[in-house]
Amino acid sequence: MAVRAGWLVGPTETGSEVTPIDDVVGHTPGDDCACLPYVEFVPGDSSAGWMVVHHAWDGRE
Ligand SMILES: [Zn+2]
Repeated sequence: MAVRAGWLVGPTETGSEVTPIDDVVGHTPGDDCACLPYVEFVPGDSSAGWMVVHHAWDGRE
């Protein structure tokens, strides 16, 4: 049975963070991770904030 690995979206102090689940290399929370995540501003009323998006080592999107 093939289960395609997904992404974990979790809250942070400044917004949210998107991290690949079960990636081949572990990720450090925050924008100083070795995968060089990018940070994007997400507008919104109560949910506005900065979203840190990690890059998956296995190339998933
Ligand atoms: Zn990362």
